[in-house]
Amino acid sequence: MLDYKRNQLLSLVVPFYNEGEALESFFARVVPILESIEFTQFEIVCVNDGSKDDTLQKLIAVSRMDERVRVIDLTRNFGKEAALTAGIDEALGDAVIPIDADLQDPPELIPTLVAHWQKGAEVVLAQRASRACDTFLKRVTAAAYYRVHNTLSELKLPENVGDFRLMDRAVVNALKQLPERHRFMKGLFAWVGFNTVIVPYEREARSAGQSKFSGWRLWNFALEGITSFSTWPLRSWTYVGLAIASLAFVYGTYIIARTMVLGVDVPGYASLLSLLLFFGGLQLIGLGVVGEYIGRIYDEAKGRPIYLVKRRYQERRLRNRLTGERRVIQMVRGQRG
Ligand code: UDP
Ligand code: MG
Repeated sequence: MLDYKRNQLLSLVVPFYNEGEALESFFARVVPILESIEFTQFEIVCVNDGSKDDTLQKLIAVSRMDERVRVIDLTRNFGKEAALTAGIDEALGDAVIPIDADLQDPPELIPTLVAHWQKGAEVVLAQRASRACDTFLKRVTAAAYYRVHNTLSELKLPENVGDFRLMDRAVVNALKQLPERHRFMKGLFAWVGFNTVIVPYEREARSAGQSKFSGWRLWNFALEGITSFSTWPLRSWTYVGLAIASLAFVYGTYIIARTMVLGVDVPGYASLLSLLLFFGGLQLIGLGVVGEYIGRIYDEAKGRPIYLVKRRYQERRLRNRLTGERRVIQMVRGQRG
């Protein structure tokens, strides 16, 4: 007979973008670890985020050999956040674990995450103990980013926590209710709340291939985070304006008084021009900030889907097997009263 405790399903959600080189070592390392976890079954939801190399072919080959591996093929590259969203939407598990394909998130940590979950935690965060494998520049900018974000936004992001984590089904369902198109996953994960446990780990260097996040992409990612969770940059212009207007008033009063006492004073070209340029620049920055928000409002207003699925591989087979087993388990549970 089927042991109903065994039927806890874990979903690993893995975004793949041009990971042909890292793909085989990923499965070779992850599958034995998942198999070793007691009382659980697992599925691996692989999202192909419009890869241009042989990632899709390799994924399909793996999924043919192992029905626990499912492939969701997106129509093009939508970006990691959208790919993760797709995977989380498709996952069937009682717990969902997003993980990078490049083995930078050590799969050896998964049993620990699961153990905390089985003890009742709804979210188990994997937190990087150090950033030793990052470049100096990335370390400094990351630290600065967390400081800025957490000052500006009411939602505090836990530092050095990526997407690697375990979420209970309840958390996943909550996450699915967030309709925004601009998906800053770290922030959304933090926003939903729930009982959280933090587990430290050492992040490794990439197993193969290259990071897909350039400096420019990271900068935009940072803007996304701040504009998604804070309106402070937008509102701050009121205060900049107030401060400057007050200064201008004081200075104006002084000039008028001086002119009345000492008469008209013609020179002043240099100070006039520099102030003009300074305030011109300041206004443009203010406009730019407003533009960042309007652009995002525009994107949200269009209401386009976050991603489009071209095709799913293996989906039906796994779904049938699971719903079949679940029915048996519900029967068993029912008979036990
Ligand atoms: N990724 C993706 N779509 C993208 C960029 C990245 O699905 O447009 C995936 C990538 O395949 C990997 C994960 O996101 O599994 C993390 O990417 P990467 O290792 O390049 O980021 P880093 O570790 O440098 O932050
Ligand atoms: Mg990586």
